[in-house]
Amino acid sequence: MTKSFVYGPVPSRRLGLSLGIDLVPYKVCSYDCIYCQLGRTKQKTIERKPYIPAHTLIGQLYEKLNHGITADYVTVAGSGEPTLNSEIGSLIRDIKKHIAIPVAVLTNGSLLGDSEVRKSIMDADVILPSLDAHGEKGFQIINRPHPEINFEGMVEGLIAFRKEYSGRIWLEVFLLEGINASKRDALCFREWIEKINPEKVHLNTAVRPPAETYAQQVSPEKMAAFCSIIGKKAEVVAPFKCLQRPEKGQAIREDLLNLLARRPCTLDDISSGLNVHKNEILKYIDPLLKEGKIGLVKRDSAIYYQPKQP
Ligand code: SF4
Repeated sequence: MTKSFVYGPVPSRRLGLSLGIDLVPYKVCSYDCIYCQLGRTKQKTIERKPYIPAHTLIGQLYEKLNHGITADYVTVAGSGEPTLNSEIGSLIRDIKKHIAIPVAVLTNGSLLGDSEVRKSIMDADVILPSLDAHGEKGFQIINRPHPEINFEGMVEGLIAFRKEYSGRIWLEVFLLEGINASKRDALCFREWIEKINPEKVHLNTAVRPPAETYAQQVSPEKMAAFCSIIGKKAEVVAPFKCLQRPEKGQAIREDLLNLLARRPCTLDDISSGLNVHKNEILKYIDPLLKEGKIGLVKRDSAIYYQPKQP
């Protein structure tokens, strides 16, 4: 069976109904964020190449759309850093030329210091980069970047991109308890945000199981206080309450519980077992954990999900 790199549409707080495209294989990334929902990075790299060729991706996207599927955004994202794919520019141009759905790019922003990377995403309608630290120390602790990436280069790339790009930039700041969520942190972030000048600032936190257990979520009250310091552009997007599910959700949820009743599974196991993208699976796992129907155990560096005994 051909692997599908197009998934969804999935409901997203930030983008409405989002039809996602994976541009790199699982966890090929320039960062290894401690809060990453997909686990630890398997290949930390800054090498740009056609990991998955644009013609493969566009073919799968057209096939999906030919089935009458619609969405608010085609989202260039996936299981790692999409700007590592050197064909991202031609992919975006092709989508813009042939499809009437706006294009969003979810990026960690680490490669925006490179003018070629900035140019490659210029045609997208909205860019959603990340800024999780306000200095080198926090950057190393939270994002654990590739050795050739530093905070100053990353943030200068974001500032340069803002100057060159006329579309919308929605910046995400991922807050972690005891690490980057204090009042002082908020004041430091605010200075950088003023320089980057995004249209919106989305505040998120670790409501789903993170790569490292010490990456703890910030309370809704603290998020709100942080939000007011950042100012009127900021809003909390953390899914403290789960999103309303489409009808097929019940079937996926039941399939997921049946699978876990057989054996503990990692996110990868569930995704390949049910043939549903990992990002979509995460949206079912979170409520099941909260309801106490399943639990998680960590073995070596892998997270396993399993049913809780009544
Ligand atoms: S959160 Fe995003 S940028 Fe960070 S390691 Fe995961 S995929 Fe990479």
